[in-house]
Amino acid sequence: MPAHVVPAPAIPEVPVEGGGAFPVRRIFCVGRNYAEHAREMGADPTREAPFFFTKPADAIVTGEADTPYPSATEDLHHEMELVVAIGRGGTDIAEGDALGHVYGYAAGLDLTRRDLQAAAKKAGRPWDMAKGFDASAPIGAIVPAAKIGHPAAGLIELSVNGTVRQSSDIANMIWSVPETIAYLSGLVALQPGDLIFTGTPEGVAALKRGDLVEGRIAGVGGVRTRIV
Ligand code: MN
Repeated sequence: MPAHVVPAPAIPEVPVEGGGAFPVRRIFCVGRNYAEHAREMGADPTREAPFFFTKPADAIVTGEADTPYPSATEDLHHEMELVVAIGRGGTDIAEGDALGHVYGYAAGLDLTRRDLQAAAKKAGRPWDMAKGFDASAPIGAIVPAAKIGHPAAGLIELSVNGTVRQSSDIANMIWSVPETIAYLSGLVALQPGDLIFTGTPEGVAALKRGDLVEGRIAGVGGVRTRIV
């Protein structure tokens, strides 16, 4: 095998509660998956099939580490989300089989440069630089489904400096986890190590340097980071 001509990138990993690490291959994110959030973003939630965007695997921030405020924005938003960790790959996965492909779940933040996203939307351009920037995906420990099962309902909440900003229930997702896996696996071959951020409820708002962001999902766990 030819030698690498630049250092090989490390595989990003998310700690697993109870021990071990989940190596991250890709990060997929579902857009507008809660009706009230779709409405607050000026979209009609009733007429859209699920759509996806991605973040680089090394966008994760783990272990409650600080998150650097990103460059090129004056409107960094929090989006609190349930994250699905894929343990077994597949294509065209049937809804009824989908949960068998899930290793576990975590709480995560889909940090968004909202001003860049608004400009991209207006110009009909891609969202990559609004969504896929460095350190744009803080995530808590992954909890194995073998321990907690497959949560389909429960409080999803985010607070900033102790004040609740987002509060909903994961049962309010427009596309459920099995539906999302079925749909996404018709677009790409899912692989072990893939993460799916399943969308955010209403209440997204701006963060500033110094803010302590704490999210939790009942029955799953939490995510915690300070913006610095
Ligand atoms: Mn999101």
